[in-house]
Amino acid sequence: MSTAFESMSPDELAAERARLTAAYADLKAKNLSLDLTRGKPAPAQLDLSNEMLTLPGEDFRDGTGLDTRNYGGTQGLTELRTIFSELLSIPVENLVAGNNASLEIMHDLIVFATLYGTPDSPRPWGKEEKVRWLAPVPGYDRHFAITEHLGFEMIPVPLNEDGPDVEAVTRLVAQDPTIKGMWTVPTYSNPTGAVFSEEVTRALLRMPTAAPDFRIVWDNAYAVHTLVEEGAPALPIVDLAAQEGNPNRVWAVASTSKITFAGAGVSFFGSSAENMAWYQKHYSIKAIGPDKVNHLRHVRFFKDAAGVRAHMAKHREILAPKFDAVLEILEQRLGGKGIATWTRPEGGYFISLDVVPGTAKRVVELAKEAGISLTAAGSAFPYGKDPEDKNIRLAPSFPSLDDVKACMDGVATCVLLAAAEAA
Ligand code: PMP
Repeated sequence: MSTAFESMSPDELAAERARLTAAYADLKAKNLSLDLTRGKPAPAQLDLSNEMLTLPGEDFRDGTGLDTRNYGGTQGLTELRTIFSELLSIPVENLVAGNNASLEIMHDLIVFATLYGTPDSPRPWGKEEKVRWLAPVPGYDRHFAITEHLGFEMIPVPLNEDGPDVEAVTRLVAQDPTIKGMWTVPTYSNPTGAVFSEEVTRALLRMPTAAPDFRIVWDNAYAVHTLVEEGAPALPIVDLAAQEGNPNRVWAVASTSKITFAGAGVSFFGSSAENMAWYQKHYSIKAIGPDKVNHLRHVRFFKDAAGVRAHMAKHREILAPKFDAVLEILEQRLGGKGIATWTRPEGGYFISLDVVPGTAKRVVELAKEAGISLTAAGSAFPYGKDPEDKNIRLAPSFPSLDDVKACMDGVATCVLLAAAEAA
């Protein structure tokens, strides 16, 4: 990419640098204190679910008469599983409802496999000399943190607009039996907004793998989080895996963290019957059952899948103007200069911004000094290392619309100044 600055004469470039340095000084003088770091729902979004704070009230039995206050029911309430079965396109018998964090389920799955092996493992992963794991990039830092923490070696693979680069993935997994799995965020991925196509998905489910116990973590965290009228439908991933001949390959997860309360939602796990039995066996040692009162609260609040979709439309009303503002400012300030590219997601919580290679860290540093906190440069890559130092994840959900605008105007100034410095 050749930038607008690189085609300038030395005098023009010096003038531009001086202009941007002055603009940056003005930005600093505003003494901002803004935070665009993490994909947290805004208070106004959390308020949409406040009715849940008084549910289920004294009526604590579910539709079958089960007393949700007591122990037991490791699969979670059937009524809630039925609602999310429809939304996630996973048969209800293949779906369990858990506690408040899908990350905990993902961590459990990988730890169970490490300690005990999966139903297809010759031995526990922890007994292997080495475990490798595929990380489509840019991706979600907390995914990468789990596999890094367990000492797996992550191999980055490119993430395209329709899913991971199938050719690269297929080649790697066919040859290397130490590659035990892959992270994915199939709908409105964190941070690019990519939506996996059925073709790519089927290829990932079908491909021969040297490891007999290869697993895809299908983290459908943003399955219903559309920013447009007609959202992407959830692929029936458990059925597709069976159709492609590898029913145990998929571990699907999701949660209501960004539907109801981020700290008090419900998580879900979906998979083949054999994987479900394996998970339940280990989970039932860990706990006597999930928080079913919270499950009931969610059932009463939503009533059905249409209730969830109607609720998501209210989130969209709050979120879409923030995303629009980010895209508008990026276009106005950085468009057509060869200085940056960015994604235009149709859902999810993030926009992925690529700046001039070698300047992402500098942009984040300039922003920080001007009172704007951005996600650390490189955080969308395993070990926090962006080989080109160009990617920045923007998370516009939490600040108010006015703050998002102020943030993005400041970020654009930092992107331009860093590019001018580097030219
Ligand atoms: N997966 C992805 C892709 C996410 O972006 C997030 C939240 N940032 C999570 C999982 C966290 O989900 P939970 O709250 O259910 O642990």
